[in-house]
Amino acid sequence: MMTNAEKIFTFINEHAQKTDKLYLEGVIDVCNNWLEGKEVPTLAEPVTKEEIRRGLQLAILNGMKQQAQVNHQMTPDSIGMLLAHITSKLMQDQSAVTILDPAVGTGNLLYTVMNYMPVESIAFAVEIDDLLVRLAALTAELLEQEVSFIVQDALRPLFIDPVDVVVTDVPVGYYPDDDNALNYQLMPSEGHSYAHHLFIEQSLKHTKPGGYALFIVPENLFESEHAAQLHEFLKKESIIRAVLQLPTSLFKNAALQKSILVLQKPSEQIKTTPEVLLAKVPNMSNKEAMAGFLQDFDLWVRQNE
Ligand code: SAM
Repeated sequence: MMTNAEKIFTFINEHAQKTDKLYLEGVIDVCNNWLEGKEVPTLAEPVTKEEIRRGLQLAILNGMKQQAQVNHQMTPDSIGMLLAHITSKLMQDQSAVTILDPAVGTGNLLYTVMNYMPVESIAFAVEIDDLLVRLAALTAELLEQEVSFIVQDALRPLFIDPVDVVVTDVPVGYYPDDDNALNYQLMPSEGHSYAHHLFIEQSLKHTKPGGYALFIVPENLFESEHAAQLHEFLKKESIIRAVLQLPTSLFKNAALQKSILVLQKPSEQIKTTPEVLLAKVPNMSNKEAMAGFLQDFDLWVRQNE
């Protein structure tokens, strides 16, 4: 028997294949029809938000393969679920949470985090690619998640209030707009700036004092070019709370290896500098090792509150 997620994928896929438009444009049409109640998938009740997210994710991934959206890698579920766990633990004492994802892409990471959040959450999402924003916005409506979208270069001024937590899978590589990069402390005195460095600076700027900013970053972040400048900046503007190395099995080659960086924005209430949690995430298919890792992480959160 098909799961609800599979039924949603089959429903979208069949309709998207029938149109003479590009597949992802077809996905947008089907989702619009679904929202307007013109054509809806037949699903087994109750339908969860995670089932809807997974069904849509499969259809979008299918379209991305066909349309070769190489610069817009969707954040994989394994990493999304881990970030969702970490975010919900760090936010557990809040009665409601505001979230920012300045590089939201399809929204897969953001919605995994929102679906998992035990308290009410509202989000701000920024993305430069118009097609991805249309897909992400429709997904938010189908999931009934409250998200405000901004279609722009996230490194230009953002007109949003500081949030409780930033969660993002940043674009990696050189940022092409040198003039705009001059507005950042992390613009190097020579050569081009790294977009992933500027995204960290921009995110901290939009985090409330005492709030958190979580990034998926290249594993060599603190060894690459301009790393010394980044380190100085982080020491001054943030508290580095954790660096979690993701398992190598998740990445096709060593150059693509990523880590999760957890920063906290300093506030007057934080009097001491806590120790940085440096840990390796175990192979995620090893359930026992993973459960142990999450338990240790939860304990660390409790001890560091
Ligand atoms: N978490 C996303 C998801 O689950 O689909 C994937 C994020 S992907 C790794 C990075 C995203 O950053 C891409 O969608 C890309 O279009 C976007 N991006 C790149 N440069 C940007 C910029 N300057 N401003 C806003 N978005 C940007």
